[in-house]
Amino acid sequence: MPLENMKSMLSKAAAERYAVGAFNILDYNSTKAVVAAAEELNAPVIIQTSAKTVIFWGTSAIMCWMKELAASSKVPIALHLDHCKDLGLIKECIETGWTSVMIDASSKPFEENLALSRQVVDMARPKDVTVEIELGAIVGVEDDIHVKEQDAHLADPEQAVKLCSRAEPDCFAPAIGTAHGVYKGEPKIAYDRLEEIAKRTSIPIALHGGTGLSDDVFTKCISLGCAKVNISTQLKYAFIDGFVTYHNQHNTEYNPLKVIDAQFDQLKGGIVEKITLFGGTCNSHRGLCT
Ligand SMILES: [Zn+2]
Repeated sequence: MPLENMKSMLSKAAAERYAVGAFNILDYNSTKAVVAAAEELNAPVIIQTSAKTVIFWGTSAIMCWMKELAASSKVPIALHLDHCKDLGLIKECIETGWTSVMIDASSKPFEENLALSRQVVDMARPKDVTVEIELGAIVGVEDDIHVKEQDAHLADPEQAVKLCSRAEPDCFAPAIGTAHGVYKGEPKIAYDRLEEIAKRTSIPIALHGGTGLSDDVFTKCISLGCAKVNISTQLKYAFIDGFVTYHNQHNTEYNPLKVIDAQFDQLKGGIVEKITLFGGTCNSHRGLCT
């Protein structure tokens, strides 16, 4: 089926308290692994591309393999541009067929964040493209965005309400204490703040920095309103480890297709686990997939 935007998949997830997994792909093989995992579980899924990945491959190459994979798939698939600060790239993705985009203007002063977020919503909505926006500073490294620990700050609920009511996004990413990359020590999640923001904005919340959180943390965040969970670092590890492990075990065999297969299996296995945990499978909610 054709690609769809995040609107109905996220509103259903928020209403029924499960989350749709959003996985950052790296190439055709990793995209295929995400789609195969979602199909095995009959679950909706969000394929995410970082700005860096989009620039690496180009929008038309990615759209080409996405269309091919979506056309033969029975599950709802959204193609989402993750953390992007470049309005030109956002526009190009919208024009090429991405069904969802994220404008990350969270490092700007509040009014500027609001103005940029609104500008992207106005650009995207006529094309039926959904928009995610961010408030606060999520610690860690994502793409070219580096936030040091001393610069991280949580989203303020008052500002969250103001930002969401005026920018009117489809999905909201408030900083609540999670981190991009690999966690050093136990993450401190501000559950009270997450709950307050989810209730007061009534917009599906995106949980960033999903790799490395415990099952309990995921379950609690989802129960409080996180309807989209981003997983990026896990895929980077599986991508490299799948390759290296296979080659270490078969170090005289130079058959690239077998290595690509091993990488696919490693990626897909981890994705199946996450989608199952987030509750997005057809067995665990009511009738999203037919
Ligand atoms: Zn993120």
